Amino acid sequence: MKKSALPEQERVRRILDILGRRYPHPKTLLHFNSPFQLLVAVILSAQTTDAQVNRITERLFQVCRGPEDCLRLGQAGLEEYIQGCGLYHNKARHILAACQKLLEDYGGQVPADRQALLSLPGVGKKSSAVILANAFGVPALAVDTHVFRVSHRLGLAKAPTPEATERELCQIIPQERWADAHHWLIYHGRNTCRARNPECGRCPVAEWCPAAEMGVPVPAAGSGKKSAAASRRSAKRGE
Ligand code: SF4
Repeated sequence: MKKSALPEQERVRRILDILGRRYPHPKTLLHFNSPFQLLVAVILSAQTTDAQVNRITERLFQVCRGPEDCLRLGQAGLEEYIQGCGLYHNKARHILAACQKLLEDYGGQVPADRQALLSLPGVGKKSSAVILANAFGVPALAVDTHVFRVSHRLGLAKAPTPEATERELCQIIPQERWADAHHWLIYHGRNTCRARNPECGRCPVAEWCPAAEMGVPVPAAGSGKKSAAASRRSAKRGE
C-alpha cells in the first residue's frame, strides 16, 4: 500500500508496533524499588545521565529508604551522597522539601496523582509523568528532548513546545500505549534517531518517516532542546 494512502492512525500503529518489537521491555533506566526511590531518582536525573544517577542512588538508597531517612540526613548529609550530580545543592533542597511535604500532606507516601505530584518541590510535568507511568502504571506520556525530536521527525506531532507536543501525542496514540510509546521514542532517539547524524539507513521505521522520505532528517523548528542556561533554570524550578 502506498504510504500516502495509509490512514494516519494505521501509520502510527505501524510505527509503534515496529518500535515495540525493537524494544520489547520499555521502562525507565533509573533503578528504584519503590515510588519514593523513583521520586528521588527522577529529581536527581535533571541534567544527569541515568547511569550516573544509578551510581549515586545505589549508595544513597542503602541509608535512605523513605522520607524520614532523607530528612535525618539533612542538607549537608544528603549532599555528601549526591554531589556526583550537577546542581546537587538545589536537588538536595528539593528532595528534602519534597520529603517534608510527603510526611505533612500524604502520609509519607508518594501520591499516584498528577496534581499532587506537581505540588512536590522538584517535580515538574515531565517528572510527574515518569513517576505516574513507571511507579504506578498510570497512563502518561512525558515529552523530553528525545520524544520531542523523534515525534516531530516522524510527523507524529507539529507543536512547538513539549507541553503542546504531549497533547498532540496523547490524541494520536491510544492511551494504553502512552507509557510504552514514551520509552520507545526515547530509546529510538538515543540509539538511531539521534539529534546529530540520525541513522536513517538502518532505521526500522524509515518506511513511515516523512523526514527520511524528504531526505531532510533534521530536528523540527523550535526543537524543544533547551539551552544549557534554560535547562539549569528548569532544573532549579524542578521541571
Ligand atoms: S528515518 Fe531517520 S529521521 Fe526518520 S525516524 Fe528514522 S532515524 Fe529518525
